[in-house]
Amino acid sequence: MICPACAANDDRVIDSRASDGGKAIRRRRVCNHCGKRFTTYERVEMAGRLMVIKRDGTRQAFDPQKILAGIEAACGKLPIAAEAKSRIVEELDEELHREFEREVPGSIIGERVAQRLRKLNQVAYVRFVSVYKEFHGLDQLIDEAQDVREQASSEVPGQASLFPAGE
Ligand SMILES: [Zn+2]
Repeated sequence: MICPACAANDDRVIDSRASDGGKAIRRRRVCNHCGKRFTTYERVEMAGRLMVIKRDGTRQAFDPQKILAGIEAACGKLPIAAEAKSRIVEELDEELHREFEREVPGSIIGERVAQRLRKLNQVAYVRFVSVYKEFHGLDQLIDEAQDVREQASSEVPGQASLFPAGE
């Protein structure tokens, strides 16, 4: 398995266990090259894979790498551990396969990524939402941003502030 941190193809399995009620095997792996730990899931290949219903009504095979790409774009250079990002992808991968048998609306995936990013980092959250809601209009984005600003002033000390004080 290619290491998500250094791209070396040299790892070993350090733990295997049943997951998703026995429908999957979760393997913890460690990269022999850089020591990064990551997780893979093994499942039975289904006749019809989980399909994502896109906004225009077309369908596309579910691809966890696309979720990761979206999260990475939102996180940019923010100091967020790679592990935290891949954990969101793993959780969603498992959750979506559990809840949806054949098809899942792309909007649900977007919302769930947003929910998790919101807990992880508010700047990444707003960036993600701004891209994700692009087609839903600016008003909604501004509502979201104001929402986050109100929350940011009342909680989560130490997180990067999206809106500088004294504006
Ligand atoms: Zn590595």
